[in-house]
Amino acid sequence: MTERIPEHRVKHGTENAYRRHIRWSETPCEKCKKGHRLYTKERRAKLRRQKGVLQQILSAGEGRLKLTDAETREILETIRKELGL
Ligand SMILES: [Zn+2]
Repeated sequence: MTERIPEHRVKHGTENAYRRHIRWSETPCEKCKKGHRLYTKERRAKLRRQKGVLQQILSAGEGRLKLTDAETREILETIRKELGL
């Protein structure tokens, strides 16, 4: 995190490269912007799928508890931490 990766070793278009731009206060290049958009889109889709699974589990009982997006994120975050992911 302290050393700057030489420009020729950066794989532009990846999330890491996008974050590198941000970290060095650069405007991300087009390739990285595109990569980041895709990453964000996939992340959201993944969260939606996970929320669907959680919702199924929770509604299997009598309770039929509806979760908000924030609650889902919090639960998933806790599970991730517990599993060390
Ligand atoms: Zn880039």
